[in-house]
Amino acid sequence: MQRTRIIDALTAAVGTELTVAGWVRTARHHAGTNPITFVMLNDGSCMAALQVVATPELANYEDIVLKLSPGCSVVVTGRLVESQGKGQKVELAAASLRQFGSADAEHYPIQAQRHSFEFLRTIAHLRPRTNTFGAVARVRNAICAIIHEFFQKRGFLYVHTPIITASDCEGAGELFRVTTLPPGKSDPAEDFFGTATNLTVSGQLEVETYCCAMGDVYTFGPTFRAENSNTPRHLAEFWMVEPEIAFADLSDDADLAEEFLRTIFSEVLTRCPEDMAFFEKWIDKEVVATLRHVIDNDFVRLTYTEAIDVLTKAGREWAYAPEWGKDLQTEHERYLTEENFKKPVIVTDYPSSIKPFYMRLSDDGRTVAAMDVLVPRVGEIIGGSQREERLDVLGARMKAQGMNPEDYGWYLDLRRYGTMPHAGFGLGLERAVQFVTGMQNIRDVIPFPRTPGNAKF
Ligand code: ATP
Ligand code: MN
Repeated sequence: MQRTRIIDALTAAVGTELTVAGWVRTARHHAGTNPITFVMLNDGSCMAALQVVATPELANYEDIVLKLSPGCSVVVTGRLVESQGKGQKVELAAASLRQFGSADAEHYPIQAQRHSFEFLRTIAHLRPRTNTFGAVARVRNAICAIIHEFFQKRGFLYVHTPIITASDCEGAGELFRVTTLPPGKSDPAEDFFGTATNLTVSGQLEVETYCCAMGDVYTFGPTFRAENSNTPRHLAEFWMVEPEIAFADLSDDADLAEEFLRTIFSEVLTRCPEDMAFFEKWIDKEVVATLRHVIDNDFVRLTYTEAIDVLTKAGREWAYAPEWGKDLQTEHERYLTEENFKKPVIVTDYPSSIKPFYMRLSDDGRTVAAMDVLVPRVGEIIGGSQREERLDVLGARMKAQGMNPEDYGWYLDLRRYGTMPHAGFGLGLERAVQFVTGMQNIRDVIPFPRTPGNAKF
């Protein structure tokens, strides 16, 4: 079928003959001496629907057109004419209309009125047919394209790191085990891979191997964490983009993160103006202003120690009192970025005791070259660090965290043979989509959210 996408049909010249196909959003039938039907047709290519005008000149007007209702799928051939109505330049005068599928008006779950996001989560297979989820899907797609272009333009190599792994990058506790052993059996030696395996929590350790051979690299794929946190910012399955830069330190890493986020935000505004206008109108009135503010201003950089100082002097009641040596809570992160600085904040140099083994130990012996990038509303959007490149220090850090260095011989080889300074970070794709769209709940920015107790549609 020679099909014109509706996004292109809407900007084509009056008089053009074309064929469009999609799903009926609304169908208004006017009876009387000159019966006429207006169908708003959407095909997902853009937010706007194309108005199709049908009259009894169509042979199947009575049998098909008059019975159209939301959700029906049709293909329409006709000629673009100047639109009589407001809000669109052209409409399609139907010369023929064929229906593929009907959608029983009584049972079709997507009705004209707005549905709650909670309800739409229960019909995740149909929610992409709504304005909000169509817009989220297009923006998510645009962000992925921008991410790849950003790195490709700078000569980064895209590396595919494994989904099934025997290593645990972030420290014990949050792993989904992968096993083919029958219930009751647990000897890893008898298992499929002959060793205990899990779904990856991060591609970092593996992508480092390519960084230590190819230079600047990135991995971008699904990651899995069995953290039992039912928050609006955590998923059990989420996508992470992880660049790793060669011959680089923490400040190079922070520079890259800042440029990266700024590029994503400004490119989305350029590429998705219609969808962003929708989010601004219906989801969060501040969302576009916040993005522009971030694009136009430098991020604030301060150390963890300075951040603790700001927090203890904030003069407010915390659910968890800020204290040197303890991780920053969401309330602390949000205070820093939303209230105190009103800008994105890069917090660096965290206590080594609360950060993973691979982060580079600083000369003070008690902090590591770590950074978290915090943004308003979402909190932590990026976590990164300069990696420990010294073999002896790395081995000691592993032992101190109860790990067996022998299990990570391949990783230590990178320090044994031609070690060099390198750094990287992880951006949670869904947190980025949340920030860009203003969507409150992370479950609404991924097609099929996996959270505790929920892996069905
Ligand atoms: P948080 O403190 O918010 O739980 P984290 O410190 O565990 O995050 P990192 O291990 O630094 O996160 O992962 C890098 C990035 O991946 C985070 O900055 C965040 O954007 C994203 N991320 C981490 N965990 C999740 C999750 N469960 N769901 C969605 N995104 C996540
Ligand atoms: Mn982190």
